[in-house]
Amino acid sequence: MSYQVDENGYYGEFGGQYVPELLMPNIVELTDRYLEIIEAPEFQRRFQGFLRDYVGRPSPLYFAERTSDKVGYQVYFKREDLNHTGAHKINNAIGQALLAQKLGKRRIIAETGAGQHGVATATACARLGLDCVIYMGEVDIQRQAPNVKRMKMLGATVIPATSGSKTLKDATNEAMRDWIANPEDTHYIIGSVVGPHPFPDMVARFQSVIGAELKEQLGEKIGRDYPDSIVACVGGGSNAIGIFFHYLDEPRAKLIAVEAAGEGLTSGKSAATTALGKKGVLHGSTTLFMQTADGQVEEAHSVSAGLDYPGVGPQHAHLFSTGRVFFASVTDEDALCAAKECAQLEGIIPALESAHALSYLKVLKNDSDHVTVLNLSGRGDKDMETYMLHGLDQKDA
Ligand SMILES: *Cc1c(COP(=O)(O)O)cnc(C)c1O
Repeated sequence: MSYQVDENGYYGEFGGQYVPELLMPNIVELTDRYLEIIEAPEFQRRFQGFLRDYVGRPSPLYFAERTSDKVGYQVYFKREDLNHTGAHKINNAIGQALLAQKLGKRRIIAETGAGQHGVATATACARLGLDCVIYMGEVDIQRQAPNVKRMKMLGATVIPATSGSKTLKDATNEAMRDWIANPEDTHYIIGSVVGPHPFPDMVARFQSVIGAELKEQLGEKIGRDYPDSIVACVGGGSNAIGIFFHYLDEPRAKLIAVEAAGEGLTSGKSAATTALGKKGVLHGSTTLFMQTADGQVEEAHSVSAGLDYPGVGPQHAHLFSTGRVFFASVTDEDALCAAKECAQLEGIIPALESAHALSYLKVLKNDSDHVTVLNLSGRGDKDMETYMLHGLDQKDA
């Protein structure tokens, strides 16, 4: 059983390239060239140099002692929250911006929901001297004002998406339209392991640095290069694949993905794609996504903007349907509790997305010698307003 992409761009029955005819030249160019470009030693030297000196990698592997005492087994945090710009997204943004340069593209476009991918992309473009245009839903522009200001300060142009629900999926549609209109000089930096082949594989490879570092760090800390389990949150799935990637063929490591259950699985307000979704074509690939009875994309809901996506990437759909990865879900309320607990036990304010994974730790029942690694995908500065809205800054809330 292979968990990686095949030569046709599929993971089992999921994946593929479902794009308008006019985009095919771009997709074919990328498909033909991405591996040769990113595997070249000179590209890897440059990429690794940026990851080390600019992003601040390797991110530490931290033994969460007080959390471990509380849950009764050993918990380590992989500290992606300590990266430049505050999350794992910068790994992919830098990788793809370097790739765009190699393809001779001087203009970058990207979609963003909460603005985290927009900020990471604007950052990479500023550093590499590339023009940057970010599409963002009009509603999200209002909800995420500080990130819009960051993108603008970094020199990016932010264009509001005014169609549909004026959120992430509409911004994605606008970005696709832009790419069709500007195929010659533009590269589209997709922010997660979604979209047509080769994006899911390309993004997974850039994020797989997380798992590669983990192997070394675990070797030093516990004397074996695999943990008993790994827990990561899933929006589109990039931080999860990043930490799972090198363990997919290691059956001794149990892999657990945590989706957002929003107000509850049966509330009609959630983003628990694998629990509720069906197979179909979304944003360029066959995958699982939440659908209305007549097959339209259903609106997702989560208190966390980064998990508020109605689908998962095709590799996750495959990992779910083969059973290699166990998918769980956590409600808004439980994630908020876990964020507060992490802040007060570890002195780390986590991103709300990561708080979903944290909340799952108390569900896992393990012996005291069990080792779990939790991917702490980002820091919580961006979520302070939400945390305060829910009273997390009150002492006994
Ligand atoms: C965007 C984001 C996520 C969700 O995206 P994935 O592609 O599923 O990783 C998770 N955590 C943080 C901190 C994010 O910014």
